[in-house]
Amino acid sequence: MTRSETRQTRNNMDKVMRELSLKKEAPKSAFILLVILYIIATVFTVIASRSEGYTTLFDNRVQYASFAGVFSSLSNMCIICLAVLFRRVGFITALIFQLLQVPMMIINIFVRHVTTNLPGLFMNFFTLVAVIVIYLSYQKVLRYQQNIRDQAVRDRLTGLPNRFAISEFMEDLIKHNEKFAVVSIDLNDFKSINDTMGHETGDIVLCEVADRWARLSELMKGSINVFVARITGDEFMFIIRGYEDEADVEKTIITFRTELERKMTIDDCDYFITACYGYALCPTDGRNIDSMFAYSNAALHEAKRMSISNYILHFKADTLNSEKSKETERKVREALENNSISFNLQPQYDINHKLRGFEALARMKDSEGNIVSPAEFIPVAEKAGLIDQVDMRVFEQAMEFLSDVLRAKKDSDIIISCNVSVRHLMKNNFIDEIKNVIVKYQVPASHIEIEITESIMIDSLEKALQRIDEIKEMGMKVAIDDFGTGYSSLSYLNNFPSDLLKIDKSFIDLMNTSDSSKQYVATIISIGHILNLNVISEGVEDEAQIETLKQIGCDYIQGYVWGRPMPKDEALEIVFS
Ligand code: C2E
Ligand code: CA
Ligand code: CA
Repeated sequence: MTRSETRQTRNNMDKVMRELSLKKEAPKSAFILLVILYIIATVFTVIASRSEGYTTLFDNRVQYASFAGVFSSLSNMCIICLAVLFRRVGFITALIFQLLQVPMMIINIFVRHVTTNLPGLFMNFFTLVAVIVIYLSYQKVLRYQQNIRDQAVRDRLTGLPNRFAISEFMEDLIKHNEKFAVVSIDLNDFKSINDTMGHETGDIVLCEVADRWARLSELMKGSINVFVARITGDEFMFIIRGYEDEADVEKTIITFRTELERKMTIDDCDYFITACYGYALCPTDGRNIDSMFAYSNAALHEAKRMSISNYILHFKADTLNSEKSKETERKVREALENNSISFNLQPQYDINHKLRGFEALARMKDSEGNIVSPAEFIPVAEKAGLIDQVDMRVFEQAMEFLSDVLRAKKDSDIIISCNVSVRHLMKNNFIDEIKNVIVKYQVPASHIEIEITESIMIDSLEKALQRIDEIKEMGMKVAIDDFGTGYSSLSYLNNFPSDLLKIDKSFIDLMNTSDSSKQYVATIISIGHILNLNVISEGVEDEAQIETLKQIGCDYIQGYVWGRPMPKDEALEIVFS
């Protein structure tokens, strides 16, 4: 990574973190007003303290000089407001004003013998102390914010930029119409190093890979720039810029591949690391962040499938199609016709094991009675334009379940979460369809949550935001599903009016095997909390994970450890137990 890129990424991150900043500064006009008020109060303090005249107030003779204290307090109040409201600038201004007053007061007391200035001198000193204390505590908050920002953009283990950083960087390139290549990389057989040599050696290997590539990208001369990031586990990513043609891209990847494949010696053992590479070009293959990641990943998976240890593959559109998906599409159509799309409910709990509610998950059997996994038929239903029908079948059955629960237990506070595909969400009659079902089953919207996958935040933010506002207006909750996998940027998240962040299972899986993954999950939770969102972890499978999640402040748990997806009757038993 070159220095200017580091700086640029940093600038982007600074911008985002400023948006995330918990407390914004007051407007400039308030600053000017406070300065003017301070000057007026100070001038009046001086005039009053020098005056020997009297005035009558409520039939009492009052010396003008006694007003000096009032004006002096007013000026001190302005000083404190400046330090509180305007942080660094306010602090420096306040300090200058306070220090300027000191010589004036000393001259008044010791040369002119104006003793009315004596209390003012003490007040001045105490105000100075207050301003310094305020500033120091602000510095502490600032350091805390910087720390969070650093955690958010940097991979803990290797020090490379992480997925947040890379998505911010890409967003910038797309905004400036710059062409670039995204390269997805997966190390070969890394798992066997972890399994045979232990996680510590695995971590050293990852750090060595990161160092080699970071050093190489810094050394690279000429117009080609390579931005290196670690995504998760043994997955890395490059963004290549400044190339002429595809041959340049491949040559650059080969240079990095050669660097990787040099012998690595750790604790007297030699390792020969290889990797597979899949890449996609912007704007030729895709024009938005989400599709660039999806395409380079698709090319990588295809490269892995070919089992050639150091293969480099360019994305081709037909990588995504296959015969199998045609067969699955036929099964989905059949299931819709036969009304055989059913659902399961997976419980969600708070961290103290109190039931929060359930996520409704689609289930499908083919005509021979074999279960087809949702991971297989949902993407096919999406591509074939059938997903809205699948979603609505599940939603309707889930609402029927909710109405059963509420009829039997009126004060129940359970929440039913339903998945909605992006294609479905964007349909014009989406809200009407949902409303009809809610009216049919007479269920309160406050018990319903709509889960939307993170990727829509990147693809069609404007329209999605409008839809989400409509969902929220109806009183339903919104959850961001699979968080962490879709490369959404922090600034998008900041603008997204959701209630719950669902951390994807892939991060929970790694959490207790690598410190950097644990830090990553902890960072997501902190970011969620800064944005006032609750956070749920998905795919929690053991007690150790629950313990870690408790430590790092996760709000809710969903996973096999406390409950697998189950039929409606079993779910009812849990509600009433
Ligand atoms: P998802 O929304 O991320 O749902 C969570 C998936 O993780 C479910 O898989 C669930 O069974 C599984 N899971 C939960 N806890 C654990 C665990 O501890 N260990 C393991 N290994 N897995 C766990 P499922 O039911 O196969 O669903 C797969 C995906 O299909 C869902 O992922 C969701 O994206 C999609 N899907 C399911 N139902 C619907 C639906 O009605 N509409 C739409 N649009 N998509 C759906
Ligand atoms: Ca979900
Ligand atoms: Ca999920």
